[in-house]
Amino acid sequence: MKLIFEKSAKGRDGYSLPVDLFDEVDIKDCIPAYATLATRKALSEVSEVDVVRHFTKLSKFNYGVDDGLYPLGSCTMKYNPKVNEKLASLDNFIYAHPLAPEETVQGCLEIMHELNKLLCEITGVDQYTMAPAAGAHGELTGVLIMRKYFVEHGEKRHKMLVPDSAHGTNPASCTMGGFEMVEVKSNERGAVDIEQLDKLMDEDTAGLYLTNPNTVGLYDDRIRDIEEIVHGRGGLLYYDGANLNASFGIVRPGDAGFDIIHLNLHKTFSTPHGGGGPGAGVIGVKKSLIPYLPTPIVTFDGKKYHLSDVGEKSIGMIRAFWGNFPVLAKTYAWILSMGPDGLCNVSETSVINANYVLAKLKKYYRPAYARYCGHECVLTGRDYKKYGIKTLDIAKRLMDYGFHPPTIYFPHFEPYAKESIMVEPPECESKEVLDEFINAMIKISNEAETNPELLKDAPHNTLIRRTDDVLAARRPILNYDDELKLRDEDIDF
Ligand SMILES: *Cc1c(COP(=O)(O)O)cnc(C)c1O
Repeated sequence: MKLIFEKSAKGRDGYSLPVDLFDEVDIKDCIPAYATLATRKALSEVSEVDVVRHFTKLSKFNYGVDDGLYPLGSCTMKYNPKVNEKLASLDNFIYAHPLAPEETVQGCLEIMHELNKLLCEITGVDQYTMAPAAGAHGELTGVLIMRKYFVEHGEKRHKMLVPDSAHGTNPASCTMGGFEMVEVKSNERGAVDIEQLDKLMDEDTAGLYLTNPNTVGLYDDRIRDIEEIVHGRGGLLYYDGANLNASFGIVRPGDAGFDIIHLNLHKTFSTPHGGGGPGAGVIGVKKSLIPYLPTPIVTFDGKKYHLSDVGEKSIGMIRAFWGNFPVLAKTYAWILSMGPDGLCNVSETSVINANYVLAKLKKYYRPAYARYCGHECVLTGRDYKKYGIKTLDIAKRLMDYGFHPPTIYFPHFEPYAKESIMVEPPECESKEVLDEFINAMIKISNEAETNPELLKDAPHNTLIRRTDDVLAARRPILNYDDELKLRDEDIDF
């Protein structure tokens, strides 16, 4: 397929104006110089139909949550109600300037204030900041809060505990925040090894970053012991709640003793993750940590809403302005429309969906742990190595069956031996869709045994066949014609 610039034909236009309307006026006089000659040379000269077809075609090469199951583990790629996009795009929201005087944006401030209350109620903490733009950004904000807290208390704690089953951003955030990262190993059940935690948690350690469910999709079932050990020695507990769809409406991290928690509103709360678009990795804290939150937060004096300074202990601003507002507006609308029972239902359905996939596929793609999972399950492709099949081949073959592949090679710590297949079938998926996916996976497992060659150069039915991922990253070719010439393929559009 050609680039739109290559479709350009000299003199071709994408508009036609009624001639008699401009009898008296030369159209050229109406267009500023900067918008004519120079720009015109740089732009493609195409007709309206060229443009429409070009972009419609491009959109069909894509695969998104509106096309089908997108079981990308650790990402919560789910359907989100379109009506929330509409609400977030209301004129009063999209034209609100972040520096507008408070009295002109009372509605926006009210939404953030009310959203704070809802999120506190859902998670059992006392105050949120809406500022962080992503999960990892929320984690870093949490680290900075912990650091400030200990400095204020005259304590020199320079280490942070992070289980090996934590999300990869956890150790990265702790290191960026200036802490020495200490890894806590998982036990044979895939949970935090309490004996090891007990040995590692000392007076030099600021606390523990816990991802729950962890990246193996398993709940840590000894939270009470973890809490006693960490708090007992003066540490703080951080909860990576990026995947709160595995528990909200049922348990609250705050009640379990966590001091700081981040949520990925752009996974769980009605904004898709993975688009690289705006996110919101809001963090909530217990009362004792409110003075350290980034500034400003929204307050209400009984009559008006204000953007208030947090005070001198605040870690300051962590980004310009006060958060990605449309994501917050969608979250607010979604929580209100779901209600407490609805949220509980989301958790239950996500967890049942994942366990259904696990139960149906565990015979074919043996998981490492014989346990029920949370909202996602980690299977493995390790049994197909003997046929010369890599997990990548299985994922690629799945595309021939019309599915977006799950996350593969993550998590990558033992005992997965680099062959993990992480499936997250979110709450919006029906049993019929899951059965289609399960059947495709079972078919592929049979193919791996009987006809491995079929998998080795899959996918066969897609526009682009097997890419060289390393080369693609190092030397991206954005022109399909060159790409196709390179591959010596003959695909006719
Ligand atoms: C996605 C995710 C993150 C990181 O969130 P980003 O918004 O991508 O930075 C952190 N922890 C867990 C458990 C996640 O699933």
